[in-house]
Amino acid sequence: MGKLNNKTALVTGAASGMGKAIAQLFAKEGANVIVADLHQNEIDEVVNTITIDGGKALGVLCDVSNEKDIKKMFNAAVAHFKTVDVLINNAGIMDDFMPIDQVSNDLWNRIMAVNVNGPMYACRFAVPIMLKQESGVIVNIASVGGLYGARAGVAYTASKHAVVGLTKNIGFMYAQKGIRCNAIAPGGVNTNIGKNMNPNPFGMERGMAGVATMPRMGEADEIAKTALFLASADSSFVNGTVLTADGGWTAY
Ligand code: NAD
Repeated sequence: MGKLNNKTALVTGAASGMGKAIAQLFAKEGANVIVADLHQNEIDEVVNTITIDGGKALGVLCDVSNEKDIKKMFNAAVAHFKTVDVLINNAGIMDDFMPIDQVSNDLWNRIMAVNVNGPMYACRFAVPIMLKQESGVIVNIASVGGLYGARAGVAYTASKHAVVGLTKNIGFMYAQKGIRCNAIAPGGVNTNIGKNMNPNPFGMERGMAGVATMPRMGEADEIAKTALFLASADSSFVNGTVLTADGGWTAY
């Protein structure tokens, strides 16, 4: 018996990195999974790996910064699987370690649109569904950058602090309505997030100051297992909090 049998889980940014690992693990644990991302080919690949393995998945094209796309994603999820029990707000982008004196409005707005507005829109669609069925779980992928000052540039840092606030507020507001909302704060994890990065030299140098204390990089499947704990009944008394998964980096 899987830990997510008969549950439907919607995972944003599910075509790569942590989101892909979460979608694949959740399907193995019995969930119907909505694989939402920006690129159809990569979405199809993830959906195929899940269905070949005997799981159930639906691919949905969705830019999380676009509220209309989020609405379409929820409509597709409900039409296909009847409901949404678990929402994983995972899609997120980095900010080239840009410090405040050099951050453009474009960069700031893009980071906020994807990293903050996306999860907010998705939670706003998910909560009424979860209220109706008196159960639901939300897991937001924040970052140690949402807890500390210089793991990234100013926009990413501010955006992930906002995700932590979103998490705590939702967690408390609906605590007596059968809904839990938690966040994961991963440390450095081997994914594609840094692939097209063009780091600002000053911001990067400041951001790298603490890297010597990082015991090791994590792997996407280690974050997926953390997400499974938070999405399943194993964490029934865990709500409105942030679970750091960084191999001990921030314990120094
Ligand atoms: P990744 O780049 O491998 O995967 C992110 C996925 O999100 C990609 O498939 C991308 O296409 C998708 N995405 C980006 N913008 C989107 C949008 N507007 N709408 C829908 N999908 C979109 O990166 P990852 O490291 O797996 O990142 C997942 C989450 O983890 C992000 O929120 C990131 O901020 C967070 N995080 C990453 C690290 C790390 O070291 N990798 C550390 C802490 C937190």
